[in-house]
Amino acid sequence: MVGGARAAARCDVLGRAPYSEFEHGLYRGYLTPAHHTTLDLVGAWMVEAGMHVDLDPAANLLGRYEGQNPGAPALVIGSHLDSVRDGGRYDGPLGVLLGIECVAALNDQQRRLPFAIEVYGFGDEEGSRFPAAMLTSRAVAGTLDGDLARIADADGVSLAAALASFKTDYDVVTASTPTRRLDLKTFEAARRSPGDIVGYLEAHIEQGPVLEAEGLALGIVTGIAAQLRYAVTLRGAAGHAGTSSMPLRRDALAGAAEMVLAVEQVARRDASDLVATVGKFEAAPGAANVIAGEVRFSIDIRAGEAARRDRAAKAIEEKLELLASQRGLVLDLALVHDLPASPCDAALMQLLESAMAEAGQPLRRLVSGAGHDAMVMSALCPAAMLFIRCKDGVSHNPAEHVEPGDADVALEVMLGFIERLNRKVLGESLADRT
Ligand SMILES: [Zn+2]
Repeated sequence: MVGGARAAARCDVLGRAPYSEFEHGLYRGYLTPAHHTTLDLVGAWMVEAGMHVDLDPAANLLGRYEGQNPGAPALVIGSHLDSVRDGGRYDGPLGVLLGIECVAALNDQQRRLPFAIEVYGFGDEEGSRFPAAMLTSRAVAGTLDGDLARIADADGVSLAAALASFKTDYDVVTASTPTRRLDLKTFEAARRSPGDIVGYLEAHIEQGPVLEAEGLALGIVTGIAAQLRYAVTLRGAAGHAGTSSMPLRRDALAGAAEMVLAVEQVARRDASDLVATVGKFEAAPGAANVIAGEVRFSIDIRAGEAARRDRAAKAIEEKLELLASQRGLVLDLALVHDLPASPCDAALMQLLESAMAEAGQPLRRLVSGAGHDAMVMSALCPAAMLFIRCKDGVSHNPAEHVEPGDADVALEVMLGFIERLNRKVLGESLADRT
């Protein structure tokens, strides 16, 4: 098997132990043992495709296929290797493996281009282990903010400790580079300079139903929705469920339930591409005979335009403050994530559109409601993104599925994109000489 179908089949291989922390189903968190075994296998596939492989200071897997001249700026193709808990097999890895297939195709023809091709397998995109998403592409783009030393997972393991204890004894990686100890102090050295990079291309499953509904294999992403994420803590008073009379209660769980519905109402009323979600919810102390004294939950708000998103966020904040005061609860609303809307690069989109046309694919443009590494990378270099149809629009779920034939078409378009970029770079260097 070769090409896109092989990339899809390799996602299936990576979808179970030891490439997953779960015996049944997939969870590959950043800096877990499953992440380690995955780096070794994907690194081996990179070597087989003709790349030099390295592990960068943020534990991103990085393969490089040199151009005609060593050290030339690179077209970067990437996506993420981590997954959510009980996630799907294609969300992330498919984009990495299609990048490797692009290089394998060039290597088979012994072709070198005026630019190098690099493939990144980002370590953390989902934020499923540490409470900060896209840590590792932000390290590459140089857009990290906040105090990394304070980040810890649900078990209390700090990012610093997880980095320091992450084994770096890769057969593949250490064969071509000196062993690298990971350390929080050097984490930001993963940063790249804009001059090293021609552009960024990411292929990713759509994670929505639009392409399938329209009978299309692929879509071109015009930009990524602006996103806000809050961590909410609501404090009331814990008490005996049998002896505390109703009027005297300050029940944090009942108050939080009203707040969850308020978040939904604000988004529904907008009747646009605005979406708002409470996806994480914990009540403490969490006993059947105790009134909940404290509730923690998340709020995620997204829209194609930052202004619409911010209007909704303000409406939600006001409503939550009102509900808290009515019930005598203490509300703490912490903004943990603020990502601007990020448009894809017009010139790179044009190359993708032309490659789509040559592959006989109807043109479909769409906005991405999900955040992606491409959005982070667009702060560093021109970025473009290709969406691939997934079955029933299902993602972040074990039922996630991509047809191998669709992955083949995606690879054809990516290779067409590389050809066009090649002609564009050659054209520009000719123009420079005249
Ligand atoms: Zn993803």
